[in-house]
Amino acid sequence: MKYSEANRPLVCMQTQSRCYKETRKMKVLGVLWHSTGANNPQLRRYVQPSDDDPNREELLRILGVNKNRNDWNHVSVGAGLNCWIGKLADGTVATVQTMPWDFRPWGCGHGKKGSCNSGWIQFEMAEDSLNDPVYFGAVYREACEITAYLCKLYGIDPHGTVRVNGADIPTILCHHDSYVLGFGSGHVDVTHWFPRFGKSMETARDDVAALLAADKEDEDVSFEKFMEYMNQYRGSIQDNDSGTWSQEARDWAVRTGMVAGMGTLPTGEPNYAWEDFLTREQMAMLLYRFAQMMGKAS
Ligand SMILES: [Zn+2]
Repeated sequence: MKYSEANRPLVCMQTQSRCYKETRKMKVLGVLWHSTGANNPQLRRYVQPSDDDPNREELLRILGVNKNRNDWNHVSVGAGLNCWIGKLADGTVATVQTMPWDFRPWGCGHGKKGSCNSGWIQFEMAEDSLNDPVYFGAVYREACEITAYLCKLYGIDPHGTVRVNGADIPTILCHHDSYVLGFGSGHVDVTHWFPRFGKSMETARDDVAALLAADKEDEDVSFEKFMEYMNQYRGSIQDNDSGTWSQEARDWAVRTGMVAGMGTLPTGEPNYAWEDFLTREQMAMLLYRFAQMMGKAS
């Protein structure tokens, strides 16, 4: 997975937006995907650092500057998302987090039965002209990555559903899905974009699940695998690397025969494996040899 606790997405909290100031916290149940419906793939169009952001200069460098000042970090904007996906100033496609994950977004509006704003982390994907397979591929992959990261963070099953007001709502869905279910306003995103490139929210759920499965495989190390790693590790330290501080002691140990080599290195010199482990068996041998040297072995 691209994102982890050790590699979190870029953060640019939109603290000047009305949503950030006025919304409340929620219990996270899933992730809802939007796309903007306007041809502008640049993140700077929508996301700009607050005036008092301590990281302001750096963020403006990374995101680029919106000279029109029509970004969403203003009280005048009546919407707010947890993150955005689009192009950074250097053209790479990335995610930028704009509110804490458990801040209730103002994203999909309301339907007849309720709103996915209560429980679903939401992001916008910045649309381009909807004709570029390369940009779509990068945005789609990024959306799957950030969703997989959030699923892991909140223990969300990407193929699961949540029962709300008598309806089963998929944990991962798009704005249009929420509308059809009666939990969002009438928008088409992302159904006007994804099918052009053979993708859907079904493929999204499958791809997120695949990322999580691969991540879990990386974490689950079997005993056999551990032994393989252990042997690799032992192999890597069974050479004559050592610190200069022990030079005198090592010379003495070799000279007196206290420490014998274990085979030879490719260079032909004996392999003393100075940094390898010492077993209790070897310790007894060392002490016995030393006692013999001192004439005390009996
Ligand atoms: Zn939408």
